[in-house]
Amino acid sequence: MTINLKPLPSLSDNYIWVIINTINSTAVIIDPGTATVCVNFLEQQNIKPVAILATHCHWDHVDGIEQLIKKYDIPVYGPATEFIPCLTTPLTGNDSFSIPEIKLDFQVMDLSGHTAGHIGYLTGNMLFTGDTLFSAGCGRLFGGTAKQLHAALQRIKQLPADTTIYCAHEYTLENLRFAQAVEPDNPEIQRWMDEVKDLRGKNLPSLPSTLGNEMRYNPFLRTDRVNIMKAVAQYSGQNIDNSEDCFRYLRLWKDEF
Ligand SMILES: [Zn+2]
Repeated sequence: MTINLKPLPSLSDNYIWVIINTINSTAVIIDPGTATVCVNFLEQQNIKPVAILATHCHWDHVDGIEQLIKKYDIPVYGPATEFIPCLTTPLTGNDSFSIPEIKLDFQVMDLSGHTAGHIGYLTGNMLFTGDTLFSAGCGRLFGGTAKQLHAALQRIKQLPADTTIYCAHEYTLENLRFAQAVEPDNPEIQRWMDEVKDLRGKNLPSLPSTLGNEMRYNPFLRTDRVNIMKAVAQYSGQNIDNSEDCFRYLRLWKDEF
């Protein structure tokens, strides 16, 4: 295995994912909300960064870019429709590109919804979802629509079950508490909760996750299920008979939880 993934904890609950080619000690940095944690890691490990990828414009994902660029002068990939500091390669859904230094090809996925222009990066079976999909949850609507975010999650669901999900926040435990309120009879939720408590107790990340696992307990990937539609209908007082409406009111429920 020549590719290694390292989550750098940043701010209160962000992860900056670093993709490392261990053969030639190069790396790609995803969503650097802070620069210092990246520089310290790269210098300690003697790794040369070759690109920065941004999923969306929020400060906790991009505020470290300018400082990193001053030091390293490397290309910055990001969504074409959002303001990303030092952006050199604007991207939209279905674009693809290669980063030859690290020997990886990336496909860009339109994951709009959390923000209007949010994108995700797929390389091999690794998907970097930013703030679109979390373990046991999904991003809030900060500029995009429920329809967009629902559609983005449906696109993710088309990927193989063994797709590894690298998200940008450690929100898993609080997301699982909500999942349990929505689906109290789903034993997968408690099982994952026990595992995550154990990991967090050892100060380890609960991430990455896999799409196959997420499909078993993440309510936002399960909005086509009758039991979830019933729970959402009961909470919202709405008549829910399709996945998109179920998602819309489930998202509102989580906002109020
Ligand atoms: Zn965000």
